[in-house]
Amino acid sequence: MNDTPTSCDAVVIGAGVIGSAVTLELTRRDLNVINLDKLPAAGYGSTSSSAAIIRFHYSTLSGVALSWEAMHWWRDWPNHVGSAEHDELAQYVKMPMLMALAPGAELPPFFAHFDTLGLPYRMASMDEVDERWPGFDWGLYGPPAALDDTTSSFWADEPKGRHEKALVMEDAGFITDPALAAQNLAAAAVAEGAEFRFRSEVVSIDRNDDGTRVAGVTLADGTAISAPVVINVGGPHSTILNRMAGVDGEMARRGRALRREVYLAPAPMERFDSEGFIMGDLDVGVYFRPERGNNILVGSTEPACDPLVWVEDPDSLDETLTEDDFQVHMLRIARRIPGFGIPHSKQGLVAMYDATEDWTPIYDRSSLDGYYMACGTSGNQFKNAPVAGWLMAELVTAVEAGHDHDVDPLTLDGPVTGMPIDMRTFSRLREVDASAGNTVLG
Ligand SMILES: Cc1cc2nc3c(=O)[nH]c(=O)nc-3n(C[C@H](O)[C@H](O)[C@H](O)COP(=O)(O)OP(=O)(O)OC[C@H]3O[C@@H](n4cnc5c(N)ncnc54)[C@H](O)[C@@H]3O)c2cc1C
Repeated sequence: MNDTPTSCDAVVIGAGVIGSAVTLELTRRDLNVINLDKLPAAGYGSTSSSAAIIRFHYSTLSGVALSWEAMHWWRDWPNHVGSAEHDELAQYVKMPMLMALAPGAELPPFFAHFDTLGLPYRMASMDEVDERWPGFDWGLYGPPAALDDTTSSFWADEPKGRHEKALVMEDAGFITDPALAAQNLAAAAVAEGAEFRFRSEVVSIDRNDDGTRVAGVTLADGTAISAPVVINVGGPHSTILNRMAGVDGEMARRGRALRREVYLAPAPMERFDSEGFIMGDLDVGVYFRPERGNNILVGSTEPACDPLVWVEDPDSLDETLTEDDFQVHMLRIARRIPGFGIPHSKQGLVAMYDATEDWTPIYDRSSLDGYYMACGTSGNQFKNAPVAGWLMAELVTAVEAGHDHDVDPLTLDGPVTGMPIDMRTFSRLREVDASAGNTVLG
């Protein structure tokens, strides 16, 4: 048991990229914050497995505004984390993002959001795309099929047609080292007075005597930490924490741990890592981005043919790559990149999303006064982490000052872009609307 006096203004559970960002932002508001994580360092949870892609197409207007705002924060990373020149920092690699469109295809809702908010984008013909990035097959093969579905036209020799044009967003990109980004935020928070305690597992979220307000947390070694504010940023463990707090039952939306595999394979064309692009390709059911060493990082866009593998106990995730899943993803990307081939050795990782039904996160208070949550991040919130930390700090400040966020949800203007972020979008109580995301793209 740790017998250091333990009380503070706010406890943040989780030192992933979002938990570290929340800690930094609360510390910058002069709160005395203790961050607790059961792992040995910041960014070792699901953050460490992130593809860390920065892009802007979300199904909700506030999702688009949040990601556009956040891109500006990554651009200004050294200033944001207040680092000295010698500090090792995560890097934002700017890289265009493509989304190909079939002839006559209905435009996804994010186009209207881009226009409403004035985001820059370009429609390129496939000939233009071919010229800039030769070696791709822009045929229409979808919807994707399972490996053993021999009747599906997805595996036919010839495509059903050809994509007509592609959305190109030049401001997209990725962060080189997602765990390092979390560590940069944590170091910045420590420099401003926050305390991080690693190997500290929260086993109980405690209430005051009449049970109406959070009073703090208890750790596995028996240490009790009292605090009037506790924030759950537990990633794939967030629902377990919400159950501990006794608030899980009130939630219309909640996260569930979803098993995901991501693969690394050699790029079959030269200089893809420096001159390539990022793609969310629903037609062949994969997303991909360049990775150093002229590799391609490949993940899934959850096509309907692939069953989702939910993980009941996030502490017993099976971390072995699945041969069939590996093969099907390599064959799917080979539809887009002829000659891709199946690499001789499987490389990749197994990780978990904390996925909600509408692939939208929950940045909210709860019915238990003082207990908040930044969770349900659905495989798509790395890019938003620094601003999510700021949203949570604004929310805590307003609610603790008496604002009734459930009755009158906050709308916050992005400090850099001025774009409005309507927090109703991220409410635990929201209804799922018809245009909500149904893949990791959100
Ligand atoms: C494979 C993969 C690819 C992804 N790709 C992208 C992408 O390209 N772009 C994008 O924007 N997003 C992406 N994401 C999503 C993004 O990485 C996550 O949304 C983000 O990293 C979540 O950060 P977090 O801080 O909320 O959670 P985590 O990083 O999971 O941190 C949660 C922390 O809570 C701690 N914890 C949990 N329970 C307890 C407890 N009881 N006591 C103490 N500590 C506890 C854990 O140890 C952990 O360190 C991806 C995610 C995955 C898994």
